[in-house]
Amino acid sequence: MLNNKYEEFYSDISKHITTQRIFTDALHTLAYGTDGSFYRLTPRIVIKAIDEKEVQAILALAHTLNLPVTFRAAGTSLSGQAISDSILVVCSFGWRKIELLNEAKQIKLEPGVVGSQANAALKFFGKKIGPDPASINAAQIGGIAANNASGMCCGVDFNSYKTLKDIRVIFNDGTILDTSDDESIEEFRNSKSELILQVKTLVDEIKQNKSLYTKIEKKFSIKNTTGYSLNALIDFDNEIDIIAHLMIGSEGTLGFISSITYNTIEEPKMKASALILFDDIYEACSFVSDLKKEKSLVNAAELMDRASIRSVEDKEGVDPSYKSLHENVASILVECGGGSQEDLELKTSKVKEIAKQFKLVKDTEFLSNPVEYGKLWAIRKGTFPTVGAMRESGTTVIIEDVAFSVKDLAAGVVELQAIFKKYDYTEAIIFGHALEGNVHFVFTQDFSKESEVARYENFMDEVCGLVAIKYNGSLKAEHGTGRNMAPFVEMEWGEDAYKLMCQIKNIFDPHELLNPGVIINKDKKAHLKNLKFMPAFNEIADKCIECGFCEPVCPSKDLTLTPRQRIAVNREIQRRKEHNETYKELEALYKYDGEETCAVDGLCATSCPVGINTGALTKDIRENSNSTLSKSVSKIVSKSYGETLFMVRQGFKVLNFVESLIKPTGMRKIRDVIPAFPYWFDTMPKVASYNKTLEISTFDKNVVYFSSCINRAFGTNKKAKDTRDLNKVVESLLRKSNFNIIYPPKDKSLCCGVPFESKGFKKDADEQLEQLLIELYEASNYGEYPILCDNSPCTYRIVNGLKQMNLKVYEPIDFSLEYLVPNLEIKQSSEPIVLHTTCSSKKMKLDEKFQKLANILSNDVTIPENINCCGFAGDRGFNFPELNKSALKELAPQLKADIQRGFSTSRTCEIGLSHNANKDYSSILYLLDECSYEK
Ligand SMILES: Cc1cc2nc3c(=O)[nH]c(=O)nc-3n(C[C@H](O)[C@H](O)[C@H](O)COP(=O)(O)OP(=O)(O)OC[C@H]3O[C@@H](n4cnc5c(N)ncnc54)[C@H](O)[C@@H]3O)c2cc1C
Ligand code: SF4
Ligand code: SF4
Repeated sequence: MLNNKYEEFYSDISKHITTQRIFTDALHTLAYGTDGSFYRLTPRIVIKAIDEKEVQAILALAHTLNLPVTFRAAGTSLSGQAISDSILVVCSFGWRKIELLNEAKQIKLEPGVVGSQANAALKFFGKKIGPDPASINAAQIGGIAANNASGMCCGVDFNSYKTLKDIRVIFNDGTILDTSDDESIEEFRNSKSELILQVKTLVDEIKQNKSLYTKIEKKFSIKNTTGYSLNALIDFDNEIDIIAHLMIGSEGTLGFISSITYNTIEEPKMKASALILFDDIYEACSFVSDLKKEKSLVNAAELMDRASIRSVEDKEGVDPSYKSLHENVASILVECGGGSQEDLELKTSKVKEIAKQFKLVKDTEFLSNPVEYGKLWAIRKGTFPTVGAMRESGTTVIIEDVAFSVKDLAAGVVELQAIFKKYDYTEAIIFGHALEGNVHFVFTQDFSKESEVARYENFMDEVCGLVAIKYNGSLKAEHGTGRNMAPFVEMEWGEDAYKLMCQIKNIFDPHELLNPGVIINKDKKAHLKNLKFMPAFNEIADKCIECGFCEPVCPSKDLTLTPRQRIAVNREIQRRKEHNETYKELEALYKYDGEETCAVDGLCATSCPVGINTGALTKDIRENSNSTLSKSVSKIVSKSYGETLFMVRQGFKVLNFVESLIKPTGMRKIRDVIPAFPYWFDTMPKVASYNKTLEISTFDKNVVYFSSCINRAFGTNKKAKDTRDLNKVVESLLRKSNFNIIYPPKDKSLCCGVPFESKGFKKDADEQLEQLLIELYEASNYGEYPILCDNSPCTYRIVNGLKQMNLKVYEPIDFSLEYLVPNLEIKQSSEPIVLHTTCSSKKMKLDEKFQKLANILSNDVTIPENINCCGFAGDRGFNFPELNKSALKELAPQLKADIQRGFSTSRTCEIGLSHNANKDYSSILYLLDECSYEK
């Protein structure tokens, strides 16, 4: 319920922004209220703003009504700076423009661009952006710049502050400053002369305060994101430069960044890495101190204490000998980069030489094969998530982020370990960017008991005293101050510097409406308030750390909810149940946004650090909500699957006939009267005949061919170039490649169970799969012959259901490369084509193989950017076509006009792709058949 001022805001802002992008309901405010931190605030209003005019209108109105505003990019922040109990402006819809400038020496980015997308655009030029947070696959430029985020390699030299070329900012009153535009600068200087003067006064103040000047210089010689970027006031003379750099690390408290231009940095041509094992953590940190003295010797030096190594020692690819390492061992993972082999070797041997001067557990070995050294980095990257995954249900995982000057690192880390012990954080691990003195410590915390909150409070007080007072270090090196460190900014910086920060806030945001409570907060207990509860509700998702890494790949992210939001809403429903609070409204709202529009593709699990498949959670929810009647219907359909499919095909034939009379538009009108009627795509296929040619064996090689029920029911698009059914294409290919074809005898009644499983009818689905596996086992002569299944999602389910069964089951991509291409004469086509890799193929890690196959068949292959799951989701696309449309909205604009055909490996996905891209998508096997000849 909105109070008067928010009602007024809502009514006025709706004149500028469509209400489809303004939310005040319990579901969306809660969902968007969630970020990666352990704090929770629920905004009154969430607005998905898509351009500067909208942001200006929001700021102007908020100013008039005195209402606070918080900006949000990807919401992966850890310190509570991306949440609000007022107006939350989400700027990740739209805002995705990337512009390469000056031969990629610079890159201009809008705030909604994901960090890794910027790097993907630069890859061809051998360049990347400087900031490299571990969250780069999810974090967006607005947040990366506003947090001054950094990571393993960027240190203090390549962060947003240091690589900033230009910035465009909207200030609290709507004024815009674009530092790349002289006119804008002049206008700003004229209209904001008083502000400029105030900034100048601050510079003068520092110049007259030698000790403050030196303090700023010293504190920014190491990583520091506690408070504002005061270094802007000593590094630059020009006020515009000062203002531009003050915006970096300001966490949305001084203005809105609407675009940023970075100077890009070179990617080293060659790299090598070594995991160096030391006798104890003191030795490891002392080694880094020596390493640091040699400038540019290493790109990164990452510390892992014994507990960190232990947390991942059971993982795949980790050297089994690590298990027997003694209790005090610590490691440093180093990466060297070079422009040439000689350069690289020179650096690696120098590192080895330095390492030898310390107590080592093993000889140092550098690996230069990316696959090999990739395994070492996977160990390092796996540490934080592993603690998250191992924690007890109901607890939160906390990651702290401090920096010491490198000379103090060894002593500081040893003292930190003692504090863990004192407060009984026995599971805590320490790792981090040792080269910069930046260490993270991760531990789990229960915030549901007062005694536990008190333990955390006392622990943090002691840590802050150690880091900020004793060692003069940074309490936040890269994650931003947020609400978490706001009470300690003055403690770290001292009275004079803190006063300066308050003045900065006052200059740019005198009414404290931009992200209040963040960075500057007078409440000394702010870090202990609004803590997030994480009640256990379903073991599939209880380990979720709400990091948001799963969001970019989710097909429903722009339509309804993301995986993280689905989990957060379920947690809140559970919390309300436990506290006897009303939850029915939330549950009802969740039905469409959470449950019905989840494609259950499970792609979210591929980018989740703790491996959560929110699709599996959705299936669980569906299973629990299936009625007795629907369960009975499912059982009947499953038991008489052959007959049901026959009837479906007959019904579909009738519908196709009706379509020929009233056209697809007429068919779509039927939905107005009968909402359960499927959405009729222009690209609705013809019915498949599934005529089999059962020939006598003439070759000495056999293949079992299982055509999925989807391909037995749906034929090609009506206007396809080749209108044969897929099984005819497969027969042609197998015959040309000299294989005998074995169809499983009861194939017409077989199904892998995907349609049942996705709707939550797990038992029926499992019975279907079991029956299919028995048939395939026998047809393949107990596993002797390879089995081809012609639809990727079905293959994925079969492969995962094999357990101990020794069957060689392939989907079209792998099968083509292994059995068809080597036995065929291929004539590469010059037809431009577009590919769509299905989620199942992605989960089976077939992306690269698909590209390889496509490149064999055509010399002009387009793989569109940022298209993950198509959102068709089996038959769901017929009922929720808006999910498919939303997931594919960036597809058509990327396709050249001369592309007529697209290829994939899942028939239902192809229907939606054809419709949304306005190209004819079919199985890649059609192209292979077209381009291949008998040898
Ligand atoms: C598992 C995990 C690992 C992480 N690892 C790292 C790491 O290695 N290094 C690191 O530095 N951080 C790390 N982080 C923290 C976080 O991911 C980064 O700081 C990231 O840059 C935040 O970006 P975001 O898009 O999520 O921003 P958000 O969290 O949405 O916002 C961050 C801040 O920027 C403000 N903001 C957003 N957009 C704008 C805008 N357009 N204009 C003005 N202000 C804006 C917000 O108000 C907020 O204060 C990690 C987080 C997680 C969950
Ligand atoms: S599901 Fe996984 S990736 Fe998504 S928010 Fe939770 S932990 Fe992070
Ligand atoms: S299964 Fe797919 S749609 Fe559902 S939450 Fe995961 S990525 Fe999103």
